[in-house]
Parts: sequence; structure tokens; C-alpha cells
Amino acid sequence: MEKYAAPILRLIEEFSKLPGIGKKTAQRLSFYVLDMKNEEVINLARAIVNAKKHTKFCSVCGNLTDEDPCEICSDEERTKKTICVLEDARDVAAMERMKEFKGKYHVLNGNISPMDGIGPEDINIKSLIKRLDDSVEEVVLATNPTIEGEATAMYIAKLIKPMGIKVTRIAHGIPIGGDIEYTDEVTLAKSYEGRTEIR
Ligand SMILES: [Zn+2]
Repeated sequence: MEKYAAPILRLIEEFSKLPGIGKKTAQRLSFYVLDMKNEEVINLARAIVNAKKHTKFCSVCGNLTDEDPCEICSDEERTKKTICVLEDARDVAAMERMKEFKGKYHVLNGNISPMDGIGPEDINIKSLIKRLDDSVEEVVLATNPTIEGEATAMYIAKLIKPMGIKVTRIAHGIPIGGDIEYTDEVTLAKSYEGRTEIR
């Protein structure tokens, strides 16, 4: 490690904890910040602290929100008949970009992954089951087409089917191992339209 003053080293260390940021990038970002105007640095720091302070998980759907229940759960124009199950808040943003879905969401905030010691009780499944009253006609499982995403979808399907609710899985327009978050709107819309019932 190069010899930097302690505060610079600390900054580099913090940046390098972020995903996809190696030591070199962390150094570059640190020197960029040191080169910024005082006011800009303060704005950046405040934005980080504020975003963390003023967001929480919606108590109904698990989406990241600044108000509880979130805007989508509170929207009376959206039908309660269809609930689309997603892995995280970024997938909600992707589905909303598609502009086709007018139901409600349920965000799992994770996936069942025995390899990582994550079981069904560690993700937002219980609250999904609690939401399933007579007004719900269809649950669309839109977890990512990864091994974990498929396993999670199958687990939830088994739980819900005995309740007499239609359970569908989005089609594989999204490549295996792909990510809903990075899927373009057209592919995502096709994938949603081509969803099939799990029997
Ligand atoms: Zn919500």
C-alpha cells in the first residue's frame, strides 16, 4: 500500500468495501473526492446519510420506500387481484419502467439459497402468505431465472397452490442466469405476457 496520510487511507478503505470497487478504483475515487469543492463533498455525504435514514421496507410489500405503506401499496387505482413477486426493489423499478403491470408487488428481499444458509424464513415469504385473501386471483412469480430464483419460485408455488390461487411463472425471455433488473422493457413485457401457470 502506498504511503498516504491516515484520513486518505481510511477513505480508500471505505470505498473499497463497495461492490465492484477494487483498490485502484477506490484510490481514484478518493482523490476525486479530495479534489471536489467543500460544498460538493458535503452534498455527497449528506445524500448518502439521508438516503439511508429516510428509506425503510414497506410493511406490506417489502419494497424500499420513504413512506409506509409505499406509494404502490397505497395506490387505489392498482388492482389487488394480481401480486407480482420480485427479488428486490430494483426489480420493482424495472417492472414499473415496463408500464404494463397494474397490480401490486411483493418484494422478497432475497432468495432461498441453502448454499449461503438462506432459508425460506430469512426472506419476505411469510408476509406474502398473509396478504393472500379472497381478493387475490393470481400470484406472478417473477424471481430471476437463476438456480436460486427458480428454487424460490417453486417453493412459493407449492405454498400458494393449495390455497386455490392461480400461480404463474414469467416466461424465459430473460436469459438463464439473467437479471430482471438489467432486462430491457420489451423483453420484460414479453416475458410477463408469456407467463405460464404452474400446475
Ligand atoms: Zn408497499
